[in-house]
Amino acid sequence: MLVTESIDDLREQVKEWKRQKLKVGFVPTMGALHEGHLSLIELAHKRADRVVVSIFVNPEQFSPDEDYDSYPRKREADLEACKENRVDAVFIPSVAEIYPDEDFLEIRVKGLGDHMCGASRPGFFEGVLLVVNKLFNIVNPDIAVFGQKDIQQYRIVSRMAEEFNHDVKILKGEIIRANDGLALSSRNSYLSDEERLLAPSLYRSLKYLEKQIRGGVSEPGLLIEHQKSELEAKGFEIDYLDLFSFKDLKPVKKLEGGREYILAGAVYLGETRLIDNILIDN
Ligand code: AMP
Repeated sequence: MLVTESIDDLREQVKEWKRQKLKVGFVPTMGALHEGHLSLIELAHKRADRVVVSIFVNPEQFSPDEDYDSYPRKREADLEACKENRVDAVFIPSVAEIYPDEDFLEIRVKGLGDHMCGASRPGFFEGVLLVVNKLFNIVNPDIAVFGQKDIQQYRIVSRMAEEFNHDVKILKGEIIRANDGLALSSRNSYLSDEERLLAPSLYRSLKYLEKQIRGGVSEPGLLIEHQKSELEAKGFEIDYLDLFSFKDLKPVKKLEGGREYILAGAVYLGETRLIDNILIDN
């Protein structure tokens, strides 16, 4: 397994694979790898001949009041996990390798960033797109895998690849959960024992709403408000909990047949931000 901090070395390796007509799959991560990341690596193995994983905690996607400094960094364990999962190359650059000098350009997200996480984390998706755009140009993959867990990220990155004509196919990996339903996340390590017990309530609320919608409820507004109150009563602070259109990521009041929707929530439990979602095709 190649482990490199260097853009040039990574490029050389990928070029060599391409000379051999091998298909390159890419899984970008911020490290502290868990079963969710590993499932994306598995999917990449199924769809490509060689798999590159990047590990980079991207400062551009954290606002000053967020957890950039305390974000878990587990270099050795991550490299071990990559080796065990037959990763072919790990790109683990320094901040200076990715952002060597002053930047004069930025990528702006229009409509797709107006709601959900985009509304409460200004600059977040601009930071994500900046780094993903760079990583696509560095790695030059044939496919790249993103998790449904970050559904807005998946949608926005997919649009970037389309609108900017990146020659990469974007795949979506399913959400991997703990036994009690909590979506795995590197940030779950912030939860106290007590918070960890409460944390699956977000998924339970989404599941309840999904069941009601699948049972025929087409205007779930009141049910959603009720779930928010229940979560608040348990000690969650709600950022958002709502039904959104899959296509444009705007909130939806009434479901219509033949469309795709996202039931999504973001909540705080103490200092920890949890997100989760369920896809619904009606
Ligand atoms: P991160 O390291 O949090 O930036 O995540 C890297 C990739 O892993 C992203 O595409 C995430 O959507 C994905 N991911 C995070 N958590 C999960 C999970 N529980 N199941 C599947 N994929 C996940």
